[in-house]
Amino acid sequence: MEEAELRGRDADAAVDASRDGPLRKRDRTRGTSRPTSEGLAPGLYVVATPIGNLGDLSERAIAVLGAVDAVLCEDTRVTGGLLHRFGIDRPMVVYNDHTAPRVRPEIVRRLREGQALALVSDAGTPLVSDPGYKLVREAWEAGVPVRAVPGPCAPIAALSIAGLPTDRFLFAGFLPPRRAGRRRELAALAGLRATLVLFESGPRLAELLADAAELLGDREAAVARELTKRHEELRRGRLSELARAFAGEPPPRGELVVLIGPPEETGTAADAQAVDTALREAAARLPPGRAAREVAAATGRPAAELYRRLRELLGSGRR
Ligand code: SAM
Repeated sequence: MEEAELRGRDADAAVDASRDGPLRKRDRTRGTSRPTSEGLAPGLYVVATPIGNLGDLSERAIAVLGAVDAVLCEDTRVTGGLLHRFGIDRPMVVYNDHTAPRVRPEIVRRLREGQALALVSDAGTPLVSDPGYKLVREAWEAGVPVRAVPGPCAPIAALSIAGLPTDRFLFAGFLPPRRAGRRRELAALAGLRATLVLFESGPRLAELLADAAELLGDREAAVARELTKRHEELRRGRLSELARAFAGEPPPRGELVVLIGPPEETGTAADAQAVDTALREAAARLPPGRAAREVAAATGRPAAELYRRLRELLGSGRR
């Protein structure tokens, strides 16, 4: 948040939008049951907040946050700062991995009684590597409407500028911090025909890129850093090039998204090797039939063909 860029007239305009009322008039009449005292339909509002640039908080997000009965947040210092910045004064309830099991029943009770509550995370879209999924599920199960107030999301922002295929992508969040676990997960992703979107910290970045080059093949990749902030940067290249470049400089500071393109051509040796890697990894955890089906689901290849290939691999003793 240190890069707050909404200043002067823009900031005033944004705050004015919240004073105009929680929602535009036609929106106020929507919803399934009675409105709250502020005119907002009851329910759980999942509100995306900026990942750096405060100008990315939407007009609708400001309006909803200004009208709910309470804001559920990971950290009151972070969200309190954001609300203050926009002239919003609503009670906050801490909802994070530590408090969730204890406070969730009370939150669901409040929602059932007809309150309007907003769920935010420290930054970006809640539930995306952030808390909230169990709350959303329990809200629906309790018959409470859940509304999206969409906006910033680091993986999507990174995808939108990386120049890698976007028709099919898999967001895998943070891989395990230990090398063995990370390599196991990379091997399991090897046969997938999709762009991979990962989070990683600066100190582990070069090692992740080197492991990915080895286990996935030397694919096109990108590293997005500090999106929407003053030092925003996107580095593109082959995995091996990026691994070498980052290994030769101090670990990058700030927040990172790593993107790895899909295997490039079907039927090439590299492609077949990626499938073999995935089969071996799956067979180390599962009986052969289930291993072949798992890789079939990930790659779209016929399970019977993969089963035959796995028998060959196991027969040749190369595990
Ligand atoms: N829910 C968030 C979202 O929608 O963006 C992601 C939360 S996750 C706990 C935090 C991770 O997102 C960071 O460690 C970093 O990898 C990534 N991230 C968040 N903000 C970023 C930014 N401005 N630039 C690059 N990556 C960012």
